[in-house]
Amino acid sequence: MAPNTLKEDVMIVNEETSEKLVVGAAPRKYKVVWFIVAYATYVHIAAVYGLYLAVTSAMWPTIALTFINNILSILGLTAGVHRLWTHKSYKAKLPLQIFLMLCHTASNTFTSISWIRDHILHHKYTDTDADPHNSTRGFFFSHIGWAMVKKQPEARAKGKSIDLSELYANPVLRFQQKNAVWLTLLVAYIIPSLVPLIWNETFTVAYHMNLLRVTVVFNTFLLINSVAHMWGTRPYDETILPAQNKTVSFFTLGEGFHNYHHVFPHDYRTAELGDNFLNLTTKFIDFCAWMGQAYDRRYVPDDVIAARMKRTGETNEKNT
Ligand SMILES: [Zn+2]
Ligand SMILES: [Zn+2]
Repeated sequence: MAPNTLKEDVMIVNEETSEKLVVGAAPRKYKVVWFIVAYATYVHIAAVYGLYLAVTSAMWPTIALTFINNILSILGLTAGVHRLWTHKSYKAKLPLQIFLMLCHTASNTFTSISWIRDHILHHKYTDTDADPHNSTRGFFFSHIGWAMVKKQPEARAKGKSIDLSELYANPVLRFQQKNAVWLTLLVAYIIPSLVPLIWNETFTVAYHMNLLRVTVVFNTFLLINSVAHMWGTRPYDETILPAQNKTVSFFTLGEGFHNYHHVFPHDYRTAELGDNFLNLTTKFIDFCAWMGQAYDRRYVPDDVIAARMKRTGETNEKNT
């Protein structure tokens, strides 16, 4: 059976936990969090206005700042909370950790520790109801719907079983968690809205251009949960939903090689080397290693990758 036609009653066994969870569970009533719905609606409308201002009246330095801030925010997600802290696929010295924590704060995507906890759940219970953005609940739910409703009881229950002591022992992450509200207001909203005033940009343009960035970053990272769990190839494991999607990789600086990533989550490249032309996050980590800020980069040897492809990939021995 093709992975994207899994039926409601299909059970999977999680290799790591040996637990069985229902994939594509029956429809259920969601408890909508109206505050989030109102905020999401507002920022999306403001982003459209920001785009209009970008085309009609924004100054070039404001456009450049928005673009750079967009890249930095995505790096905070990809190189920071994802590859560094969730998967421990490399190590970073304190200055790089502080930089990545601030970049992640600029992305306005929850506190770093809660992002990491949810992503651990995502890998441990992929596409079941213990996965916060279970893609078998449909495109809208896996993209943004999950953030607009109360967390599913299975994800809440399993979330409590995740050991976060190591994360809280990290002073950088602990600081971010403790000061998330004012830090996020400052880094994600106030500073980017005020800096363009230095070159006499209007506040209206600066403010809406920043909300455009916040919205683009949010939707970019959500593409991995929705699009990259639905469309693409599965050369490493045909039995799971995560797929290789080059379009997602382009927008997420290399995070769309998602079939590879779910099979080998500890590889700092999240892809095979051949795909690295879209993998700017890997290039960034390599640059940080060259600077002496990143070290102990972990990757999977080519022969192990080839053996896995042969065993479980779309072109495995059984299929050819
Ligand atoms: Zn995934
Ligand atoms: Zn991951």
